[in-house]
Amino acid sequence: MSIAEQYERVSAEVAAACHEAGRDPHEVTLAAVSKTVEIAAIAQAIQAGAHDLAENRPDRIMAAHTAYPRVRWHFIGNIQSRRIGDIVPCASLMHSVFEEHHLPRIDAAAQAAGKVQDILLEVNVSGEESKGGVAPERAPELLAAAAAYPHIRVCGLMTMAPQGDLRIAEECFSDLRRLRDSLSNARPRGTAPLSELSMGMSEDWRCAIRQGATIVRIGRAIFSEEFA
Ligand SMILES: *Cc1c(COP(=O)(O)O)cnc(C)c1O
Repeated sequence: MSIAEQYERVSAEVAAACHEAGRDPHEVTLAAVSKTVEIAAIAQAIQAGAHDLAENRPDRIMAAHTAYPRVRWHFIGNIQSRRIGDIVPCASLMHSVFEEHHLPRIDAAAQAAGKVQDILLEVNVSGEESKGGVAPERAPELLAAAAAYPHIRVCGLMTMAPQGDLRIAEECFSDLRRLRDSLSNARPRGTAPLSELSMGMSEDWRCAIRQGATIVRIGRAIFSEEFA
């Protein structure tokens, strides 16, 4: 199967999973994670209808954004302070923010770019040491800190589930949703509701949709022959 066919198949499967879960497919954004293919190959997904794409490295999001400026680019990778100025002008949404000292740099870069930067707070729900993210119990203070910056809007939460056991993944997604609900209810005055839940990848996106994901980040199922 071609990348275009794989994109179309995954997109239809996401819509079908939404119906099965009693959800409106318009509530769920499919972010196609293009990090493993050449920049030129991304065009095939865009021609097939992809409008939200994701990269996890600053150099890649810069190149991809330059090549395809009219789609929405999501940044889903590790953030280093010195690369924030490169990421912010390209990223419609930064999914992987969890260090408080990055907030003033994101705010300054967004101001310089003449925008308010939409971000998600990455939460390490599973507690695995190999994973990034703020500990759930520290999420309220990070959200409160972000509220002080006029060029940052926190739109929701993001997590990565442990791999290998879909029941554990689904629990992790349900925990993120509960955390989102409680944080949103108690959010700082004047801030936006936390409407977004970025969770679910090629192996586990179906349970993420059942648990309320509003953004699924799917790479290999679209771009790899392993899934064709
Ligand atoms: C690579 C990546 C994905 C996509 O993973 P697949 O298993 O290829 O679907 C999703 N989220 C993040 C943060 C990633 O780095």
